[in-house]
Amino acid sequence: MKSYNKEKQLGMNPGTASNRLLKQLLFSFGDRLGMQWCFQCATKIESVDDMSIEHKVPWLHSEDPVDLYFDLDNIAFSHRACNYAASRPRKAKKFCPSPASYRRGCRCEGCRKANSDYRKALRARSY
Ligand SMILES: [Zn+2]
Ligand SMILES: [Zn+2]
Repeated sequence: MKSYNKEKQLGMNPGTASNRLLKQLLFSFGDRLGMQWCFQCATKIESVDDMSIEHKVPWLHSEDPVDLYFDLDNIAFSHRACNYAASRPRKAKKFCPSPASYRRGCRCEGCRKANSDYRKALRARSY
């Protein structure tokens, strides 16, 4: 029983282990590229456990879900908690000011600044 062996040595299901490894890699590369800034609250994502992947333009119920889902330009990182809260419209309001709120159409001073800070942070990648 090969897979049983793997599971025994890893102390977890090999599929779970592989997913965790991929997520850690993603976090580590994203961090090196200066991309680990939360799309919702515009602060840094400090740990892989807080990281979630989010679609800037929601793909669900869109005209072209598959395209939006896999469009890398449509991908941003955010805190898990922020991502979760933002998917509940009533709570999303608390994310003003934020780049996400800017994207949703808010042009208040805070959101304009949050959005430009966010873009600057992404541009200031460590070469
Ligand atoms: Zn956040
Ligand atoms: Zn705003």
